[in-house]
Amino acid sequence: MEDCIFCKIIKKEIPSNIVYESDEIIAFRDVNPVAPIHILVIPKKHLNSVLDLNPEDEMLVGKIYMVINKIAKQEGIDKSGFRIVVNCGEDGGQEVKHLHFHIIGGKKLGTKIC
Ligand code: 5GP
Ligand code: ZN
Repeated sequence: MEDCIFCKIIKKEIPSNIVYESDEIIAFRDVNPVAPIHILVIPKKHLNSVLDLNPEDEMLVGKIYMVINKIAKQEGIDKSGFRIVVNCGEDGGQEVKHLHFHIIGGKKLGTKIC
């Protein structure tokens, strides 16, 4: 996807603060963090959102959650807790149309989810 900002981050055409990278997944710090720890975990394969997932992507989603598990421990928020957010579409407030999982932590988060 040529115009996709996250695809550009994957290709290193745009700098980012990468905290994890494998052949299928990359994770980097959000440029506009809402908490002391705010990391985005994304598949390298361009998918617009959760709605683009196909049965063949089941393993990929499982791997993304394992990466989240690893990063939470790496960042030291495994004991204090954190939130995983995946926005989808217009009403979900999704701004970047490349599937991404927010890891948000490092402070006491509000109890409201909307
Ligand atoms: P969304 O609202 O789509 O769920 O979240 C998109 C997130 O991507 C936002 O939190 C925004 O700050 C982040 N973001 C947008 N552009 C860039 C960028 O160029 N670099 C990084 N590191 N994060 C970005
Ligand atoms: Zn993309």
